[in-house]
Amino acid sequence: MHAVTNSLLCWGLCLGSALAQSFPIKDKPITLVVPFTAGGPTDRLARDMAEALRKPLGGATVVVENALGAGGAIATQKVARAAPDGHTLLIHHIGMATMPALMRKPMFDVLTDFDYLGMIHEVPMTIVGRSSLPANDYKQLSAWVTSQKDKVNLGNAGVGSASHLCGLLWQAATRTEMTTIQYKGVSMAMTDLLGGQIDVLCDQTTNTLTYIESQKIKAYAVTSNKRLSQTALKDLPTLQEAGLKGFQVSVWHGVYAPKGLSSETKTKLYAALRSVFSDPGFIQKQEALGAVMIIDKRTDPVEHKKFVTAEIAKWTPIIKAAGVYAD
Ligand code: ASP
Repeated sequence: MHAVTNSLLCWGLCLGSALAQSFPIKDKPITLVVPFTAGGPTDRLARDMAEALRKPLGGATVVVENALGAGGAIATQKVARAAPDGHTLLIHHIGMATMPALMRKPMFDVLTDFDYLGMIHEVPMTIVGRSSLPANDYKQLSAWVTSQKDKVNLGNAGVGSASHLCGLLWQAATRTEMTTIQYKGVSMAMTDLLGGQIDVLCDQTTNTLTYIESQKIKAYAVTSNKRLSQTALKDLPTLQEAGLKGFQVSVWHGVYAPKGLSSETKTKLYAALRSVFSDPGFIQKQEALGAVMIIDKRTDPVEHKKFVTAEIAKWTPIIKAAGVYAD
């Protein structure tokens, strides 16, 4: 009887103290889950965020976890199933909008399984090649790719990644079929491009710019609407100028939590994130690599979700028409 009373008492007190724990929970780290390998653009963004978030979260420990595989779906599923206490966050890109169409059996619903926490930045992509490629401009690259047929090795970060999407669109627009080599993040694809094991890659400036500047790889074109201003990129044509009508891809990033954050946690997290995204030091790091901070209404969680909904509607027919699926 005594034991029952004690355990009932403990149950009440323990539940009470668990409910009373406010965000961030003392001594519990905050984990930023990244869907791709360390050293790539998503990882780099998350590591910059982890460093900058510590202060606005009162000195909390913020760590990055690379949950690899299935072009981002493993990490997304992991966060969808995590406790909604604000301690597990997903840093993901345009893949949030392309995964629903790419997966035969989705393990989560990107629109209903998450609390949206606002968008971060957008990054243009570049078509780059190994330094030993014979082509010196986009026209020559295009002729070389056509002449080589499926012997051209095109890297990407897995089905569902931004580099995969860009590669698909590029092959469709040029009516070519390259041999696709999949990695678990573009940092690995870049290693093989630098080593000459693969021929070409379409990836974000946040991954390619420094290698283009040091001439370790060749750059051929950008996927933005306008030419870019960085010295090493300013002479590159847009793919539209190079004759690929309507070709435009920009890789946007956002922050997501498992659905069910308390409103107090959501408010605190959102405020901490916004203070990071408006920090001049953080902005400078992102812009130096060609990223453009999002400062419009999409920084708001409701508008972020509306934007992702619109992007799903935009990319789904394009992906279905290309007939690709992740298993
Ligand atoms: N952003 C890359 C992609 O989607 C993946 C990565 O960050 O490694 O291709």
